[in-house]
Amino acid sequence: MTILDLRSDTVTRPTAEMRQAMMAAEVGDDMMGEDPTVNRLEHRIAEMFGHEAAVLACSGTQSNQMAVRVHCQPGDELLIHSTGHICNFEGGGPAALSGVSVRTVPGEGGMLQTADLAGMIRARDQHFCRTRLLCVENTTNIGGGRVYPLSRLQELSEWARAHDLRVHLDGARLFNAIVAAGYSAAEAGSCFDTISICFSKGLGCPFGSMLIGDRQTIQQARRVRKLFGGSLRQSGFIAAAAIHALDHHIDRLADDHRNARRLADGLRTLNGIRNLSETVDSNLFFFELDPALGTAVQFAAALREDGILIGPMGGQRVRLVTHLDIPDDAIDGILRAMTRRIAAGFADQPLLGKGPFSK
Ligand SMILES: *Cc1c(COP(=O)(O)O)cnc(C)c1O
Repeated sequence: MTILDLRSDTVTRPTAEMRQAMMAAEVGDDMMGEDPTVNRLEHRIAEMFGHEAAVLACSGTQSNQMAVRVHCQPGDELLIHSTGHICNFEGGGPAALSGVSVRTVPGEGGMLQTADLAGMIRARDQHFCRTRLLCVENTTNIGGGRVYPLSRLQELSEWARAHDLRVHLDGARLFNAIVAAGYSAAEAGSCFDTISICFSKGLGCPFGSMLIGDRQTIQQARRVRKLFGGSLRQSGFIAAAAIHALDHHIDRLADDHRNARRLADGLRTLNGIRNLSETVDSNLFFFELDPALGTAVQFAAALREDGILIGPMGGQRVRLVTHLDIPDDAIDGILRAMTRRIAAGFADQPLLGKGPFSK
């Protein structure tokens, strides 16, 4: 049985062509700055985003936390949406790695707006920590895969700069946003001091991330990367996968978005599905199951028998994510299986585990 894994876009395995590109990579010692493939990728990404420099990192978590460390001093505070990855899913990194406290801000769809940020900056007074950094997430993850319009990124950027804050973009799925909204990497890039991107999500690489910014910031980030244990040697193998992904896996993100919308449109019509987001901007969305049917973990257990894996997010909540390994022609079958399971109920399934992000 082929498994259709909708838990995350991180589950993709490298294609045969990507593996070939990795095999053929010219490599050297990256920590000594001598890996030609890494250097080529770093230049290409920096140029693409309209910045001076970029540095390869192991994961999105690592590049985000490198950014926090570079922008902030111990005792500083960062502003972020309450659902933000940096403060919820990175092991308490700002406090543990940089001595930085977090002040969270509400907002629909995981998105910030300047009206919600008003009054969030601490007065310059010996009692208070220094508000130093604004973190924006695009696309949003727990916010439901929402895509910021360019105008809103520009407003946030102007607000941050007017208040002497640095501004960082967690762009783990930024290429999804770029493809969905139609702005360029450079247009998005111009709004931020640093940008982190991931190669291991929609782009389909086994791992790898990059932090982008000005030359001095990225030079500091290299020192922090070393400190955090993320400086690698023949990293060209992973850079070759990323170069392959830039050439072949960006435009196709539109297919993932179309497939997510087809799934959402199909599910929305079913009795027993609640709070499915009105807007499916990119490749992921959330919904809730009527408790009379069973829990999200039980729904997942039932679908596993059909070869379909889904992400229970605690209680009744489910997240579905489309990606490179969910082909267009699988969508109808997934919808049929889900329709059947929802009609039958799944409260008889075992209550195994709690799901990856549940409390
Ligand atoms: C996945 C993700 C990251 C990075 O996660 P890693 O697993 O460390 O690569 C960062 N931000 C968001 C919003 C994400 O979804």
